[in-house]
Amino acid sequence: MPFDHTFRTVDFGAVPLTICRIFDGMPIRHAFTTRAGGVSTGAQASLNLDHKQDTVENVYQNHLILADALGYDPHAMVSTRQIHSAIIRIAGAKDAGQHLDGPVPYECDGLITDQPGRPLIAYSADCIPVLLYAPDVHAVAALHAGWRGTAADIAAHGVRRLQEVYGADPRQMIAAIGPGIANCCFTTHDDVPRAMQEAFGTEVNAFITPEADSPGRFHVDLKAINSWRLQTAGVPADSIAVSPECTCCLPDKYWSHRASGGNRGGQAAVIMLAERP
Ligand SMILES: [Zn+2]
Repeated sequence: MPFDHTFRTVDFGAVPLTICRIFDGMPIRHAFTTRAGGVSTGAQASLNLDHKQDTVENVYQNHLILADALGYDPHAMVSTRQIHSAIIRIAGAKDAGQHLDGPVPYECDGLITDQPGRPLIAYSADCIPVLLYAPDVHAVAALHAGWRGTAADIAAHGVRRLQEVYGADPRQMIAAIGPGIANCCFTTHDDVPRAMQEAFGTEVNAFITPEADSPGRFHVDLKAINSWRLQTAGVPADSIAVSPECTCCLPDKYWSHRASGGNRGGQAAVIMLAERP
């Protein structure tokens, strides 16, 4: 039976979270957070999960609210400190809960684990969040793919790390590419197309279109490129759901770095293994 690729935003108590039906019935919990349901104020209102422009106390409270809504232990969660790389960290007990008191001491843009009850979090505010589940070995990944991370091929690296570390078969993996800046709003100079072409060759041109009436500017479809990179790493196209929501078109629902001019909070993509059925 083909997978249901629908995304919808559902209230978990007082916290609206976006979830993807492709994971329905699977022994995991996941969500893409929105701006609503937290305690932060101003440009960070209200469920800001990112330490960059908020108090440690607000971010701490927001992480507790999210953990309570999704039903996990906030002290078990492992988080990233993102640098637009393809660095993927094997998340374990030593990393757990560190984000509650400030940014974590290590840098990475992706996390993997095979530990049930170990939530993984990646942050975004236009960048593309990618969640992966490998049902054959019961392992998950959370990835952050901005344009630099996309060009560094973090999506395919995530698949390969699940293969190398846990022996997962990419043909069985399930992926959800969450809300992020879409082709409509991600216009760039030729630096981004050039980085993509250097990384992936001319095949990537299928996802790049010149902007009408703006010589030297381009629309770059980051979600589609990440979906393609997952497929080149072996994940079947039908097993990849892509959120149609553009963070830049929906600045009241999600934080958008571009729409906010940088004064913003950050949403999270979270995924956690339940016990193996
Ligand atoms: Zn848009």
